[in-house]
Amino acid sequence: MANQRMLGFVHTAQRMPDKRPATERRQDFAEIYARFTDERANEQANRCSQCGVPFCQVHCPVSNNIPDWLKLTAEGRLEEAYEVSQATNNFPEICGRICPQDRLCEGNCVIEQSSHGAVTIGSVEKYINDTAWDQGWVKPRTPSRELGLSVGVIGAGPAGLAAAEELRAKGYEVHVYDRYDRMGGLLVYGIPGFKLEKTVVERRVKLLADAGVVFHPNFEVGRDAAMADLRRKHVAVLVATGVYKARDIQAPGCGLGNIVPALEYLTTSNKVSLSDTVEAFENGSLNAAGKNVVVLGGGDTAMDCVRTAIRQGAKSVKCLYRRDRKNMPGSQREVAHAEEEGVEFIWQAAPEGFNGDTVVTGVRAVRIHLGVADATGRQTPQVIEGSEFTVDADLVIKALGFEPEDLPSMFGEADLKVTRWGTLLIDHRTKMTNLEGVFAAGDIVRGASLVVWAIRDGRDAAEGIHAYAQAKAAVPVAVAAE
Ligand SMILES: Cc1cc2nc3c(=O)[nH]c(=O)nc-3n(C[C@H](O)[C@H](O)[C@H](O)COP(=O)(O)OP(=O)(O)OC[C@H]3O[C@@H](n4cnc5c(N)ncnc54)[C@H](O)[C@@H]3O)c2cc1C
Ligand code: SF4
Repeated sequence: MANQRMLGFVHTAQRMPDKRPATERRQDFAEIYARFTDERANEQANRCSQCGVPFCQVHCPVSNNIPDWLKLTAEGRLEEAYEVSQATNNFPEICGRICPQDRLCEGNCVIEQSSHGAVTIGSVEKYINDTAWDQGWVKPRTPSRELGLSVGVIGAGPAGLAAAEELRAKGYEVHVYDRYDRMGGLLVYGIPGFKLEKTVVERRVKLLADAGVVFHPNFEVGRDAAMADLRRKHVAVLVATGVYKARDIQAPGCGLGNIVPALEYLTTSNKVSLSDTVEAFENGSLNAAGKNVVVLGGGDTAMDCVRTAIRQGAKSVKCLYRRDRKNMPGSQREVAHAEEEGVEFIWQAAPEGFNGDTVVTGVRAVRIHLGVADATGRQTPQVIEGSEFTVDADLVIKALGFEPEDLPSMFGEADLKVTRWGTLLIDHRTKMTNLEGVFAAGDIVRGASLVVWAIRDGRDAAEGIHAYAQAKAAVPVAVAAE
């Protein structure tokens, strides 16, 4: 396979890995795509045009060296491809599965721009790194020397885990505190298994533990310890707590039973998939089986809810979104998957109220006209007079977005500065908050975002912490290299 000429896009069409039929997918929570065969990965990687200025890399938040690992894959040099791939990304097989590639690397592939269909970058990234796991190439990054300094990380989502891995490799003693019983944040309790199987996250967490990262599950900062305690214990503390306050809807009937927040619904479903017994699922309140389900919202969370409800055996699943298909925030690929699986989208429709005595029986909605664009360039939704209609519903799931919790009061640190959105204010050069030695990364800084951005932030914060800790401890930087 050596010395492939690349530029294969001129004679080879874009092909995704095989996708399981929708009828089969509806029955379980397993991932929907198979892995590329060696031949298909080689053929698809070979389509890359090896651009001088690779826009895929420019638009990848972790600046993956995509053209190089595509070329190495096309040449059958997979272990080298793996080395290049993991050099910039702590969880490449996770990004390969769940990045919205159509908005990032693949959306900016030059071949896509010239209508040939992008190189299937995400699927090749997944293929390279799943192969690396199978072959035993993925090893814990234990440090060559201990620095004798410890760092506390609050939150075991992708931002906290990426920072923990980087800091441990540099020689820090790293303690990760999380209020959940399992590590992974939204990777484990938000994102459903049909996008990301949980074993993929578990093996990463184990790898970090094998490298010496110390995990403290069921440990909520603000309840089990104050921030001040952690600041005393560690040379630096990283806040990577994500955003968990669900946006709500105020409308007549919004207090009825069976109107539930998206994350409660998805977390329950994920716990059940992990064989936990959850009372709210057992008693049916967070179980869509046999129900008419209406999901409110048009983002990735809404897509995960509709597709979860299908798998739980809902009678019908409808998604109500106030804008049209091309203006929805969720990935177009996910919408297509949902439609294949039997979800009905009601575009340009907004809820006005809920029917029912004690529990919801229907959603009252109105049709929306998209008017002229506002200052942000988005068309303003306007209610169409006299367009009221009702959708039957036994379960309504609110997927309207997330906001930060009130961290200054949760942490007992009234001086901790936040932005007007409640996200933590940091110095973007150092990643430090206004509190000495307290850093922040991921959704708690950006607002609800993406896994790959959380990884990037975690890596950057690790660099900021390292520079800070070295200066403080006056340990020569050279000894800290991996
Ligand atoms: C349903 C859903 C689907 C998504 N799908 C995708 C997708 O397909 N692709 C994609 O790229 N992104 C997706 N996202 C977004 C992505 O999951 C987040 O951007 C990412 O997980 C943010 O990482 P984080 O580390 O900042 O926070 P999180 O992953 O939220 O992790 C934060 C951790 O901090 C812990 N924590 C919070 N407060 C405390 C405290 N006081 N003490 C101790 N621990 C605490 C939490 O328990 C949690 O484990 C999705 C989000 C949701 C909600
Ligand atoms: S990390 Fe995400 S954006 Fe970057 S190459 Fe992989 S799939 Fe594309």
